[in-house]
Amino acid sequence: MNNFVEVRTVFGKKKISKNTVTLSHEHICCYSEYLNIMSKGYLDKPTLAEKSADILKNMKEKYGLALFIDCTPVNIGRDVELLKKVSELSGVDIVCSTGFYYNDEPILDCMSARTLADFIAEDANNTCAGVIKSAVEYDTVSPFNIKLLKASALAQKKTGLPIILHTNANNKNGIKAVEILLGENVNPKNIVVGHLSDTNDNEYIKNFAKLGCYVALDRMYDNERQDYITSKINQINALCEAGYADRLLLSHDDSVFQGFCDMPQIKAPRWSYMFEHIVPKLDENIAKKILKENPLTMLCGK
Ligand SMILES: [Zn+2]
Repeated sequence: MNNFVEVRTVFGKKKISKNTVTLSHEHICCYSEYLNIMSKGYLDKPTLAEKSADILKNMKEKYGLALFIDCTPVNIGRDVELLKKVSELSGVDIVCSTGFYYNDEPILDCMSARTLADFIAEDANNTCAGVIKSAVEYDTVSPFNIKLLKASALAQKKTGLPIILHTNANNKNGIKAVEILLGENVNPKNIVVGHLSDTNDNEYIKNFAKLGCYVALDRMYDNERQDYITSKINQINALCEAGYADRLLLSHDDSVFQGFCDMPQIKAPRWSYMFEHIVPKLDENIAKKILKENPLTMLCGK
């Protein structure tokens, strides 16, 4: 029996044990290259690398964490050298992303979906990225968003990599985004619909699981109220009972340096939340499937 799968890490393709605990949607760092050029005080990367590595090392010892999927797309500061440093210092394997975030950008705005897809595919090849990040946020999926989704779909077919979608579960724009990807003939097993733990509407979540997409309950970290924790455990169990245990992913979507605020700074992410509050209350086999099996089958496009 083969107990290993090949995963594209920041250090190249690597055989990873199937018994690996994975965090499937986190960020070491989301930042602006422009601000980093303008101010030395904006981000101290060596300190960020050391702090991030300490956290991951600790999680490796405490929870057996061995694989970390960093979902930062290229245009909000993906830095492969930084991720390599963190991986080297922590001993945790890291998968990086390629692809673009949803915000309008003057340069990207001028390019066709085909040209952008070529950039994504070439970057995936150069960096050994393991996932394509794509994103929609607002109620209206704009023509620019549609172009980026099409570019992601074209790049998916060139590379075979899964697409991890940032969606807004409150305005339910995931429906439109997935429709566009499917319209470009992306196989649903290569789509992860992200940030679905932001809603309690299980029927909405099931729409994606029914199609065969992965559904990511990947924003569980900032609420320690017992009723919230219970509602999320019930949500996981309900989706498993409906037959979708093999489509579920859990994570936090938290970062060590998060540029989306007025005064960004290096901070401690809440990556222990699901290990402390959620996992101990799940059936052992379900927990094993969600933490160990599903992230690897997702990365392998199964
Ligand atoms: Zn994210």
